[in-house]
Amino acid sequence: MSFVKRRTEVVKAPSFEQDPRKCAATGCPFRGTAEWGGSRYMCLCHQGKEPDTWPAITEKCHEFSWLGDFIADVMKQSGTWTRGRHWSEFAVEFWSGIDDHCIPNDWERLRAPDYVIRMMDELRWRCGLTKLRPKPREMPHYSKVKGNVVQLSGITA
Ligand SMILES: [Zn+2]
Repeated sequence: MSFVKRRTEVVKAPSFEQDPRKCAATGCPFRGTAEWGGSRYMCLCHQGKEPDTWPAITEKCHEFSWLGDFIADVMKQSGTWTRGRHWSEFAVEFWSGIDDHCIPNDWERLRAPDYVIRMMDELRWRCGLTKLRPKPREMPHYSKVKGNVVQLSGITA
Protein backbone atom coordinates (compact mmCIF):
# COMPACT_ATOMS: atom_id res chain seq x y z
CA MET A 1 0.00 0.00 0.00
CA SER A 2 1.40 3.35 -0.96
CA PHE A 3 1.60 6.32 1.33
CA VAL A 4 -0.76 8.28 -0.93
CA LYS A 5 -3.37 5.56 -0.88
CA ARG A 6 -3.21 5.30 2.91
CA ARG A 7 -3.76 9.02 3.31
CA THR A 8 -6.92 8.90 1.22
CA GLU A 9 -8.46 5.91 2.96
CA VAL A 10 -11.57 6.75 4.89
CA VAL A 11 -11.48 5.32 8.35
CA LYS A 12 -15.02 4.76 9.44
CA ALA A 13 -15.68 5.30 13.09
CA PRO A 14 -17.76 2.52 14.59
CA SER A 15 -21.43 3.39 14.64
CA PHE A 16 -23.45 3.34 17.84
CA GLU A 17 -24.68 -0.19 17.13
CA GLN A 18 -21.24 -1.45 16.16
CA ASP A 19 -19.52 -0.35 19.37
CA PRO A 20 -18.69 -3.71 20.97
CA ARG A 21 -18.81 -2.20 24.44
CA LYS A 22 -22.45 -1.23 24.09
CA CYS A 23 -25.42 -3.42 24.93
CA ALA A 24 -26.48 -5.55 21.96
CA ALA A 25 -30.03 -4.12 22.02
CA THR A 26 -30.30 -1.49 19.28
CA GLY A 27 -30.04 2.04 20.65
CA CYS A 28 -29.49 1.03 24.27
CA PRO A 29 -27.38 3.67 26.07
CA PHE A 30 -25.80 1.23 28.51
CA ARG A 31 -22.67 -0.83 28.41
CA GLY A 32 -23.07 -4.55 27.84
CA THR A 33 -21.85 -6.60 30.77
CA ALA A 34 -23.66 -9.94 30.43
CA GLU A 35 -22.74 -12.30 27.63
CA TRP A 36 -25.40 -12.76 25.00
CA GLY A 37 -24.02 -15.19 22.47
CA GLY A 38 -21.16 -14.54 20.15
CA SER A 39 -19.13 -11.51 21.03
CA ARG A 40 -22.03 -9.28 22.05
CA TYR A 41 -23.06 -8.39 25.56
CA MET A 42 -26.31 -7.17 27.10
CA CYS A 43 -26.83 -4.53 29.77
CA LEU A 44 -28.40 -5.41 33.10
CA CYS A 45 -31.82 -4.29 31.85
CA HIS A 46 -31.90 -6.23 28.55
CA GLN A 47 -30.17 -9.39 29.71
CA GLY A 48 -32.49 -12.39 29.76
CA LYS A 49 -35.36 -10.53 28.07
CA GLU A 50 -37.03 -11.60 24.84
CA PRO A 51 -35.95 -9.59 21.77
CA ASP A 52 -39.50 -8.39 21.10
CA THR A 53 -39.43 -6.54 24.44
CA TRP A 54 -36.12 -4.82 23.75
CA PRO A 55 -37.44 -1.61 22.12
CA ALA A 56 -39.71 -0.82 25.09
CA ILE A 57 -36.88 -1.59 27.51
CA THR A 58 -34.53 0.62 25.49
CA GLU A 59 -36.96 3.53 25.92
CA LYS A 60 -36.88 3.03 29.70
CA CYS A 61 -33.09 2.78 29.62
CA HIS A 62 -32.96 6.19 27.97
CA GLU A 63 -35.44 7.60 30.50
CA PHE A 64 -33.25 6.44 33.38
CA SER A 65 -29.83 6.77 31.76
CA TRP A 66 -29.07 9.43 34.39
CA LEU A 67 -29.24 6.66 37.01
CA GLY A 68 -26.80 4.60 34.96
CA ASP A 69 -24.46 7.61 34.93
CA PHE A 70 -24.86 7.95 38.69
CA ILE A 71 -23.97 4.27 39.22
CA ALA A 72 -20.91 4.67 36.99
CA ASP A 73 -19.83 7.72 39.03
CA VAL A 74 -20.22 5.82 42.30
CA MET A 75 -18.22 2.91 40.88
CA LYS A 76 -15.43 5.26 39.80
CA GLN A 77 -15.33 7.02 43.17
CA SER A 78 -15.90 4.06 45.48
CA GLY A 79 -13.07 2.92 47.65
CA THR A 80 -11.29 6.21 47.21
CA TRP A 81 -11.51 9.81 48.17
CA THR A 82 -12.27 11.97 45.17
CA ARG A 83 -11.37 15.61 45.45
CA GLY A 84 -11.19 15.30 49.22
CA ARG A 85 -14.51 13.62 49.81
CA HIS A 86 -15.80 10.10 50.27
CA TRP A 87 -17.94 8.65 47.48
CA SER A 88 -20.89 8.33 49.86
CA GLU A 89 -20.97 12.10 50.37
CA PHE A 90 -21.50 12.44 46.62
CA ALA A 91 -24.35 9.89 46.78
CA VAL A 92 -26.00 11.61 49.77
CA GLU A 93 -25.79 14.97 48.04
CA PHE A 94 -27.13 13.49 44.79
CA TRP A 95 -30.28 12.01 46.37
CA SER A 96 -31.00 14.47 49.21
CA GLY A 97 -34.32 16.15 48.66
CA ILE A 98 -35.01 13.96 45.62
CA ASP A 99 -35.45 10.43 46.95
CA ASP A 100 -34.26 9.63 50.47
CA HIS A 101 -34.83 5.90 49.85
CA CYS A 102 -31.75 5.93 47.61
CA ILE A 103 -29.41 7.55 50.12
CA PRO A 104 -26.80 4.98 51.22
CA ASN A 105 -27.30 3.80 54.80
CA ASP A 106 -24.48 3.33 57.32
CA TRP A 107 -23.74 -0.22 56.11
CA GLU A 108 -23.74 0.73 52.45
CA ARG A 109 -21.42 3.66 53.12
CA LEU A 110 -18.86 1.12 54.31
CA ARG A 111 -19.62 -1.34 51.49
CA ALA A 112 -19.81 0.47 48.16
CA PRO A 113 -20.33 -2.79 46.19
CA ASP A 114 -23.51 -3.46 48.19
CA TYR A 115 -24.77 0.03 47.39
CA VAL A 116 -23.87 -0.32 43.70
CA ILE A 117 -25.79 -3.60 43.49
CA ARG A 118 -28.80 -1.95 45.15
CA MET A 119 -28.65 0.94 42.67
CA MET A 120 -28.48 -1.54 39.77
CA ASP A 121 -31.57 -3.24 41.21
CA GLU A 122 -33.12 0.23 41.60
CA LEU A 123 -32.50 0.87 37.90
CA ARG A 124 -34.16 -2.41 36.94
CA TRP A 125 -37.10 -1.57 39.22
CA ARG A 126 -37.48 1.92 37.76
CA CYS A 127 -37.42 0.39 34.27
CA GLY A 128 -40.34 -1.84 35.30
CA LEU A 129 -38.31 -5.04 35.13
CA THR A 130 -38.83 -6.08 38.77
CA LYS A 131 -41.89 -5.74 40.97
CA LEU A 132 -40.30 -5.11 44.36
CA ARG A 133 -38.26 -2.01 44.98
CA PRO A 134 -34.89 -3.00 46.45
CA LYS A 135 -34.40 -2.18 50.11
CA PRO A 136 -31.23 -0.67 51.55
CA ARG A 137 -28.68 -3.33 52.34
CA GLU A 138 -28.16 -4.15 56.00
CA MET A 139 -25.29 -5.63 57.95
CA PRO A 140 -25.73 -9.41 58.03
CA HIS A 141 -26.25 -11.01 61.42
CA TYR A 142 -24.15 -14.07 62.14
CA SER A 143 -26.77 -15.93 64.07
CA LYS A 144 -26.10 -19.65 63.62
CA VAL A 145 -23.11 -21.85 63.23
CA LYS A 146 -23.98 -25.19 61.66
CA GLY A 147 -21.01 -27.50 61.46
CA ASN A 148 -18.27 -25.34 60.09
CA VAL A 149 -20.66 -23.10 58.10
CA VAL A 150 -21.87 -19.78 59.44
CA GLN A 151 -25.49 -19.10 58.55
CA LEU A 152 -26.18 -15.50 57.68
CA SER A 153 -29.47 -13.89 58.45
CA GLY A 154 -30.76 -10.37 58.14
CA ILE A 155 -29.56 -9.89 54.57
CA THR A 156 -32.06 -7.91 52.61
CA ALA A 157 -32.01 -7.95 48.87
ZN1 LIG B 1 -29.39 -2.63 27.11
